[in-house]
Amino acid sequence: MQAKRKDIRALTRDQLRDFFVKNGDKAFRGNQVYEWLWQKAAHSFEGMTNLSKDTREMLEANFVINHIKVDQMQRSSDGTIKNAVRLHDDLVVESVLIPTKTRTTACVSSQVGCSLDCLFCATSRLKRMRNLNPDEIYDQVVAIDNESRLYFDRPLSNIVFMGMGEPLMNYNNVLKAIDKITSPEGLGMSPKRITVSTSGVPKLIRKMADDGVKFKLAVSLHSAIDEIRTSIMPFNATFTLSDLRAALVYWYEKTKSRITYEYVVWEGINDKRKDIDALIDFCRFAPSKVNLIEYNPIDDGVFQQASNKAIDLYVDLLEENGIVVTVRRSRGKDIDAACGQLANKS
Ligand code: SF4
Repeated sequence: MQAKRKDIRALTRDQLRDFFVKNGDKAFRGNQVYEWLWQKAAHSFEGMTNLSKDTREMLEANFVINHIKVDQMQRSSDGTIKNAVRLHDDLVVESVLIPTKTRTTACVSSQVGCSLDCLFCATSRLKRMRNLNPDEIYDQVVAIDNESRLYFDRPLSNIVFMGMGEPLMNYNNVLKAIDKITSPEGLGMSPKRITVSTSGVPKLIRKMADDGVKFKLAVSLHSAIDEIRTSIMPFNATFTLSDLRAALVYWYEKTKSRITYEYVVWEGINDKRKDIDALIDFCRFAPSKVNLIEYNPIDDGVFQQASNKAIDLYVDLLEENGIVVTVRRSRGKDIDAACGQLANKS
């Protein structure tokens, strides 16, 4: 029986060089293959044209390239693109290309499904099947970079980890993927153009700060009152706001990187004056800004976007208190590609 072939992209450059040396070839052959895999995003050994036929056959006998496949691409009337991405084991995740006049942002997934249970989020209804590997995250980014070049004539400019899954629950693989995205032998992107958005896992926010990461941090806050936050994000009962706040203060002290709070205002849930006051207080602990995000209903009728009047009051009071606030309109609603809508429905 043939031994199970290994995913070649799990190997570091040095491990690839060693593989060739052990098989009686030159170490630099490992560099060539590494370049094919990461810089040229090769999908097959056959396409590695500067290798001999024997070498390609030897690679084929020992390894596989578990590349993702964009199964379906949907385009929104506002230019947003949603990719349904099939993984080697036939599971599917989604990623989104969001164009503006000057930027192309990729919103990528980090897990198949999600282990958390935010009540307003479509992904929470999918059981968490597994974490994505670093290369599966990297491939989503490459696919969107290619689409950006093809449809918008420019490379991808920004990445947000805001697709399916809680990125900090897949900590090591997300960081490995970011290493590859930012390294010159990968896409060479600046970490300042990457934002990891978490629902707020205090221990791992501290770990990121200790690990000296250079990307930006966003937190899906949605309420600065424990009782309310727990009612819509039940894990808040374990990771309370005071723990979160302490971790964010630690993050800022170590990284000096301003935090973004993602915040949706829902009718009857967090649209009162006391909710705004609590948010203003929460923002005082570390330099931060607030993104008020338009909500996209997920057809259960429970969560409804608050009135414009309530949102205007948020903006006025935050600004009066010197807090930078942006109201973000949703993109790709017609193809279920907007924030909180990713649920493999297509
Ligand atoms: S909002 Fe994020 S963390 Fe919460 S269930 Fe959805 S994907 Fe998971």
